[in-house]
Amino acid sequence: MTRTHCPYCALQCAMHVEPAPGGRWAARPADFPVNRGGLCRKGWTAAELLTHPDRLTAPLLRTDRTAELRPVDWDTALDHVAGRLRALRADHGPDAVGVFGSGGLTNEKSYLLGKFARLALGTSRIDYNGRFCMSSATAAGNRAFGLDRGLPFPVTDLSGAETVLLAGANPAETMPPLMGHLSAPRLIVVDPRRTATAQAALDAGGIHLAPRPGTDTALALGLLHAARAQGLADEDYIRARTTGFETAWEQAVPWWPEHAEQVTGVGAHLVRDAARALGEAARGQGAYVLTGRGAEQHAKGTDTASAWINLALALGLPGRRGSGYGCLTGQGNGQGGREHGQKADQLPGYRKITDPAAREQVAAVWGVDPADIPGPGISAYELLEALGAPGGPRALLVFGSNPAVSAPAAARVRDRLAATDLLVVADFVLSETAALADVVLPVAQWAEEEGTMTNLEGRVLRRRKALDPPPGVRTDLEVIAGLAARLGRPAREFPADAGTVLAELRAATAGAPADYSGITPERLEAGEALHWPAPAGRTPGGPPAPATPRLFLEGFAHPDGRARFTPVAHRPPAEQPGEGFPLVLTTGRTMGHYQSGAQTRRIGELAEAEPGAWVEVHPDTAAEHGLSARGWARLTSRRGTMLARVRLRRTARRDTVFAPFHYGGAQTANDLTNPALDPVSRMPEFKVAAVRIEPAPPPAPEAAPHPARSTGPTGGSR
Ligand code: SF4
Repeated sequence: MTRTHCPYCALQCAMHVEPAPGGRWAARPADFPVNRGGLCRKGWTAAELLTHPDRLTAPLLRTDRTAELRPVDWDTALDHVAGRLRALRADHGPDAVGVFGSGGLTNEKSYLLGKFARLALGTSRIDYNGRFCMSSATAAGNRAFGLDRGLPFPVTDLSGAETVLLAGANPAETMPPLMGHLSAPRLIVVDPRRTATAQAALDAGGIHLAPRPGTDTALALGLLHAARAQGLADEDYIRARTTGFETAWEQAVPWWPEHAEQVTGVGAHLVRDAARALGEAARGQGAYVLTGRGAEQHAKGTDTASAWINLALALGLPGRRGSGYGCLTGQGNGQGGREHGQKADQLPGYRKITDPAAREQVAAVWGVDPADIPGPGISAYELLEALGAPGGPRALLVFGSNPAVSAPAAARVRDRLAATDLLVVADFVLSETAALADVVLPVAQWAEEEGTMTNLEGRVLRRRKALDPPPGVRTDLEVIAGLAARLGRPAREFPADAGTVLAELRAATAGAPADYSGITPERLEAGEALHWPAPAGRTPGGPPAPATPRLFLEGFAHPDGRARFTPVAHRPPAEQPGEGFPLVLTTGRTMGHYQSGAQTRRIGELAEAEPGAWVEVHPDTAAEHGLSARGWARLTSRRGTMLARVRLRRTARRDTVFAPFHYGGAQTANDLTNPALDPVSRMPEFKVAAVRIEPAPPPAPEAAPHPARSTGPTGGSR
């Protein structure tokens, strides 16, 4: 029995992995403060994929796009990839090769992938799917606090609060064990849908605010207005610990609750009630404001996250024990994945790639001249959009991601992937992206490898190996090392051993904002709670220097120690419903599936529970558009179409439909979503797309999502 952590979301529930009858493996919950002995159904069933017949166990290669992928040996596959990369770089320069990473990769993989891109490939063109996840909250957190860590406090602190506001987060479905920490506080849930979390809030005497999609900024401004108008702003805190309040307040002045009601559709009385509940809790037992993707995945997501942070600052929450602001990170290593260099503008330790001192420090650890490290690249969607275009990458290496399903305007992205000269995908199943590739490299899964993950509270965790990968499978680190060697880099620069990579990562992050230098294998093994920054060194004559479970208690990370208010104004979504597209589509996750579903759609219990895409529609809206319960509907936006079964819900908004994004083929919700980008975070507008909906015949069998035990191409990212 091996103690490790769940392969899926950022809660990183602890689990034991153990052999089960019939050569299979099973996952069982383990005691850990975050999950307190609980797992969701995804965690319980995670081990099923370890022995799944869909596992890839040999590299696949095709020499032209009209040919079938055929099994080859590793040397043939890696020699082919390295040869093509060398030729493309010689003909078109190093930026002709792009790299697309993932918030699901371990810290060690994220680190080595960033180093591989910059040194072995010499390219600036690296970004990752975390750009589609937490980047707006990251940008807002950095500008407000000078540092971004999803939750700057342990998740266990939440249960002591009197009130928690959840803006655009649905943990009752996406990370159910988190609800155990939210059972005592009164919940205020901001979501256009009556989600399971919103219903739980209402059932327990909380509040559900259901704004029109894309009006969250106005709602946050209305709450700030209502809180101060009721005398609940913490003026002493604002004076002592922040700057910029007056200019931010000027933006909130016009947003009296009746004005907010006109724009958001949320009743003025509810705005006042919510502001009072939060403000009184701030003065009482404590309050938290937490944001999720619903608030952040917009072309104005950074400003919306800033609006929620402004509210939290005005109430005096951040940097106080028992209160705070946080972002609920989504992907398993969404936190660590954004800290160690696979983001276009970052070097390890959350260092800025444009900072000369940061470049020097990292270059010294890498043993290169700072000038050898390329400058900033372009964001994830821009990278995908540029594939095969003049001046854009002609080759793409994908690790742990499936942009053919998970990127916005996914049909367009599939066209761009097809426009490359070389597409290489490392994955353990044949995802939609892998099915388009020239070379597919079969890699190990979570329970077959060592490494570290950083959960949503910035706590670094040990991922332990429970079993060997199947014969023919290599780890991502071995793949990177093998390619780097073939590109002429010395073996010592790209070790394939996770412990060696962690040692280098610790050195590269020493003194950085996300300092991992004190995170030793021994401390991890001992189960110490190591939230970064965790600097190396010892207390005088005593134990190792402490890690940092709670940030900002003494001051914020700006030079003057004060948090920054950011003046933000409401602006409408990039695309409004209108003629031809009268409804708003918003998308999200469900209980049974994870991201684009490569893993969860193959797991029998999960696939049976939620076998295909569905669309949630109000009965009146359904009647108006000729839809019937459980019938099929075609949704169409300006970018594409999808098919989904109709689910009628009386609690749905009449102007909005909802579809999960876990499915591929004809049921790909992201074929409809809008790639309009946030000007700061470069986050696409996943949450608002203008659509029309109409009855449709059932999808053809080949267009349906693949069954759990298919041996053909299926969908989803890791
Ligand atoms: S998916 Fe998330 S909530 Fe569910 S068991 Fe895994 S880590 Fe826990």
